Amino acid sequence: MTTLTIEAEALHKSFLSGRVRSDVLRGLSISIAASELTLISGPSGCGKSTLLAILSGLLRPDSGRVQALGEDLWRLSPTAMERFRLRHTGFVFQGFNLFPALTALEQVMLPLGYLGMPLAKARARAMATLDEVGLSSRSRLRPIELSGGEKQRVAIARALAKEPELLFVDEPTSALDAENGTLVIDMLHHIARIHATTVLCVSHDPRLIAYSDRVLKMEDGKILSDLRNSVLTGAPALHEAHSK
Ligand code: ADP
Ligand code: MG
Repeated sequence: MTTLTIEAEALHKSFLSGRVRSDVLRGLSISIAASELTLISGPSGCGKSTLLAILSGLLRPDSGRVQALGEDLWRLSPTAMERFRLRHTGFVFQGFNLFPALTALEQVMLPLGYLGMPLAKARARAMATLDEVGLSSRSRLRPIELSGGEKQRVAIARALAKEPELLFVDEPTSALDAENGTLVIDMLHHIARIHATTVLCVSHDPRLIAYSDRVLKMEDGKILSDLRNSVLTGAPALHEAHSK
């Protein structure tokens, strides 16, 4: 039996640019199972990043509901929301969002500091997480000294170090060459398996499909299809999920 960690219902979001209002999400509903790597794919501009931001508590929907880990997310007070995001979620941004002045180790330690973890413990945890993504020898380097693939892995380590239940990842391979892209995909797969983290990844990279437990396709502000990848259980690859 699968446990649901995120359930969103009837999400609407539109943006106004100049006089033009564009409806990006049009009554989108989605539920995400715990400890799975779920991929949301779809053409550029279809609202993937917007959806990820709403589900992770970064962007308020115009209407609709998000239940995450039992919390009615958009009804939390700003303080409770901040706490929820800090304790339970990690976010890997499309452009990495690393701080230019901080070393790899400091980037990863930062959220642990916000959580109130003592310095020595935070340092040890951050080193262990950097080691897990294969970067222990790069801990003292700053972003400008790191390759794209290494920067992405620091960003993943930073999101992962606090051991969040929910990991949100926006286009993890779009800025990487093929080899580094594969490395990062493999890492996300490993995270979902080893840490039993719920990983929600948004990408139009078809290579991610084989590594995902489930693939949702988005179009016109809605979920168009929902496929389960059963390769690992020996069943035929990617068959249509049972519809309700
Ligand atoms: P995707 O990640 O699938 O490429 P996005 O969610 O980033 O799509 O964007 C969906 C649409 O919403 C795009 O047309 C984009 O220009 C628009 N959009 C996203 N964020 C904003 C914003 N803050 N203000 C205005 N328009 C936005
Ligand atoms: Mg996007």
